[in-house]
Amino acid sequence: MARYANPLVQGTNSLVNLSQITEEEMKVGSLQAAVTRWPFFVFLGGSMFCLLSSSICHLFSCHSRCLNIQLLRMDYVGITVMIITSFFPPIYYIFQCEPHWQLIYLGGITAMGMFTVMTLLTPSLSSGKFRAFRAMLFSSMGFFAIVPAIHGCIVNWSNPHRSITLAYESAMALSYITGTLFYVSRIPERLKPGWFDLAGHSHQIFHVFVIMGALAHYGATLLLLQWRDRVGCNGTV
Ligand SMILES: [Zn+2]
Repeated sequence: MARYANPLVQGTNSLVNLSQITEEEMKVGSLQAAVTRWPFFVFLGGSMFCLLSSSICHLFSCHSRCLNIQLLRMDYVGITVMIITSFFPPIYYIFQCEPHWQLIYLGGITAMGMFTVMTLLTPSLSSGKFRAFRAMLFSSMGFFAIVPAIHGCIVNWSNPHRSITLAYESAMALSYITGTLFYVSRIPERLKPGWFDLAGHSHQIFHVFVIMGALAHYGATLLLLQWRDRVGCNGTV
């Protein structure tokens, strides 16, 4: 009897376990299938484009005066593309269950970014006279993020990951703002002209802060992706 009883009991347990696992796997499987990766890849693609255009610009900018001007424009276009694409993962994943907000925020930043790119590619606006205007365009794209950030915080107030994601994004904002301040003020070369012609001038410092900002944003994006892999629109898994 014992020989038959055990397999039956085990079989019943196995069936229960199997049904539980299958149910859980189906839940997780269905949610994983629902979380798309394209906003994450848009950000990665934009960052790669930014770093590539910056590398090409600074590698070949010594070729000629004419090419130098064209390449510097590409440098700023690259940064603009990275700022626009940075918005895609947080806006998409935070407002995944409210597509109209995705459309409003992503449409808004894309329109602002396209205007900035057009301004950067307009020769008359690329001179030193419009340096502050260009800085204002970069800053306004950064400040635009405050609106969805506050909105996202209110919507996810009870989410335990809110503080850490906010800390990452604040680090990103601080990096971009500090970088822009160096860009506008032209410190330290204006204090000691000629000392920083090869290394340590404001443009290099600006790029370092842009990379630091992108890294902080990458950290925040990974957290958002992990969260959306577990939590769907209909509640916690
Ligand atoms: Zn540069």
